Amino acid sequence: MGRKRPERTARRRAERGARELVRDREKLAALDIGGSPERPIEVSTSAVIEGRARAQRCPQCGGSYRIEDHQAPSATLREVAVRCAQCGVGRRLWFRITVAAPS
Ligand SMILES: [Zn+2]
Repeated sequence: MGRKRPERTARRRAERGARELVRDREKLAALDIGGSPERPIEVSTSAVIEGRARAQRCPQCGGSYRIEDHQAPSATLREVAVRCAQCGVGRRLWFRITVAAPS
C-alpha cells in the first residue's frame, strides 16, 4: 500500500489550476475585442493604433505592453504583436481602420 504524499498532490493540483487559469485568461482575451481579426478594435486613423495597443493591459498580470511588431494584412486591418513588459506573455491585437464613407 503506497503512502500518499498529500503536500505534493496539493502542489500539483495548484500548478494545474494555475495553468488552467492562464489558458482561460488567454481564451477570454482572444474573445475580447481586439483579440481576433473578426473582432478588431475600431480606430479612425492608424496613427492612434500603437497608443491604443499600449493602453491595453495584460490579462495575466495587469502589466503594460511593449509593441513588438506592426503588420498591415490588408488596407484597413492592422495586426500588432505586443509583449507584456512584466510577465513576458505575448498577444496579438487587431485593429480596423474605419474610414468615413465619402458622401
Ligand atoms: Zn503580464
